[in-house]
Amino acid sequence: MSAFVIDAFEFSRLKERAQGAFAVSDLSRLSAESVDQSGTISWSVVGGSDKYGHLQLALSVSGTVNLVCQRCLNALPFEIASESVLLLARDDADADAIEQMLDNDAIDVIVGTSALDVGSLVEDEALLALPVAPKHDVCPDAGVSELLQAKKESPFSVLKNLK
Ligand SMILES: [Zn+2]
Repeated sequence: MSAFVIDAFEFSRLKERAQGAFAVSDLSRLSAESVDQSGTISWSVVGGSDKYGHLQLALSVSGTVNLVCQRCLNALPFEIASESVLLLARDDADADAIEQMLDNDAIDVIVGTSALDVGSLVEDEALLALPVAPKHDVCPDAGVSELLQAKKESPFSVLKNLK
């Protein structure tokens, strides 16, 4: 595990920024979803605060993971491109209060610590971005028949049928 630990509150207060990349093979929970553990996940974190003065981290996570297609069980490359804002609360009660005040599901509130592991934050974000049941649009081994099914009837043949 490539650890990268920040003091979340200081990092936000000082508007610091950091970026890096983790190998998928170093992120054990993400590897478990992957067929071959290949690829890297790039990330960046930018500290700041919202208009109410809540300290926050803007997290962006991107990269490609080879998932397992739930239909044909072959590798399914999935591109992660996720951006999120994490407001820092002092504790669980503070987190609940902030969530109620904001009433906005698009913003996540986390309990900040002086030793926040960015690796697990990035991994959480990547896992959240994954589809529940990944499937190819058209599976490679069933390619031909599925392509035919997916082919829409042309507008001209529809017109012909109307006559
Ligand atoms: Zn498939």
